Amino acid sequence: MALIVQKYGGSSVADPVCMKRVAQRVAETKREGHSVVVVVSAMGKSTDQLIALARQVNSTPREREMDMLLATGEQISIAILAMALDAEGIQAVSMTGAQAGIRTDHVHTKAKITGIEPRRVHEALDKGNVVIVAGFQGLNPNNDISTLGRGGSDLTAVAMAAAMNADLCQIFTDVDGVYTCDPRIVPDAKKLDVVSYDEMLELASLGAKVLQSRSVEFAKKYNVNLEVLSSFEKLPGTIIREEVKDMEDIVVRGVAIDKNQAKVTLQSLKDAPGVAARVFQHLAENTINVDMIVQNVSEQGVTDMSFTVPQTDLPRTRTVVDTIIHEVANRGVKYDEDIAKVSIVGIGMRSHSGVAHTMFKALADNNINIEMIATSEIKVSVVIEKNKADTAARVLHAAFKLAE
Ligand code: ADP
Ligand code: ASP
Ligand code: MG
Repeated sequence: MALIVQKYGGSSVADPVCMKRVAQRVAETKREGHSVVVVVSAMGKSTDQLIALARQVNSTPREREMDMLLATGEQISIAILAMALDAEGIQAVSMTGAQAGIRTDHVHTKAKITGIEPRRVHEALDKGNVVIVAGFQGLNPNNDISTLGRGGSDLTAVAMAAAMNADLCQIFTDVDGVYTCDPRIVPDAKKLDVVSYDEMLELASLGAKVLQSRSVEFAKKYNVNLEVLSSFEKLPGTIIREEVKDMEDIVVRGVAIDKNQAKVTLQSLKDAPGVAARVFQHLAENTINVDMIVQNVSEQGVTDMSFTVPQTDLPRTRTVVDTIIHEVANRGVKYDEDIAKVSIVGIGMRSHSGVAHTMFKALADNNINIEMIATSEIKVSVVIEKNKADTAARVLHAAFKLAE
């Protein structure tokens, strides 16, 4: 008998038919004799709908109240699934994040989990229940409800699996695994049987939303056995695990696309020690996650610097940058939301050369201009015009022969 954590995403619990399908899947696992903890997301697009609802009454709602509102989506799901399981003849009990013992830091809307005390979950399991935990939420040190950032139910599942020393964490979703690229954008993308934690971490942080990146970070740190699979069909999924030697034979494992970035360019920035530190200190104090940073060569004591931020952080970035820009740059600041980041990822890049050349040539041959470049040991990312992102992904998928 194993302890299994199963997570079902929004599209897998979108309506009563889906809820019943999930209940049957959970019931099957329970009847096989396993202990089952289920983590669920809000039904369908309800988190988006709640965000839109908030904006109708306030264009910049307070984050504490946003968390109070958004957490209700998952709370509906846990109760409905518990009822559906009951109807299947399976004893189940639902718990909010707080009831399941999930504690977070103070940061509203993208809180970090600081600890899990799953005593009630263990007690309920010991009494023979399936325990259904609300994804995406926890309790902060003020005893206020916090949420873990978009896609955060993945993190709830992995963190519960780690805290409870579960044998397996299964992420059920609307695709049957992790593909070489988003199969909705690249139709000939191929399902991967196995991906290393590091590759999955890069793919997820670079835009492959099939897993939330922090959940992968957690899985790697605590060595959680992680699997992504379909909630709609019974097919083998993708295993995410520690790398083994022959994984390096494949140079590029996948392509990721991120259309939710914005580029900020500080024009004629004073080229003096401490200027960059000043700008980024203000951004950090406002918990804005800066991603790619590029600084041009300095000419006559000034330079241009560009960086990217998540589009959702752009309003706050504008406020921060607009207040200090006159002190640090002569020609002001430009904001560009019409960009996307396209990346190739693979641990094989460590031991193969010519990868950047193949990438840049494929883009050039298709008349796609590169605005920014960033590399690490196992990825190359470029910022390009947003409306060329899908074409770029297909072109790179073909250039690295990922469909073969
Ligand atoms: P859930 O609601 O189950 O959390 P998400 O919408 O967050 O599901 O994630 C699943 C989606 O991720 C898929 O429908 C797919 O379009 C997208 N996706 C992006 N990149 C990939 C990839 N490399 N492999 C599989 N799916 C991907
Ligand atoms: N419901 C939340 C969201 O839409 C969390 C999740 O689905 O993982 O982001
Ligand atoms: Mg998701």
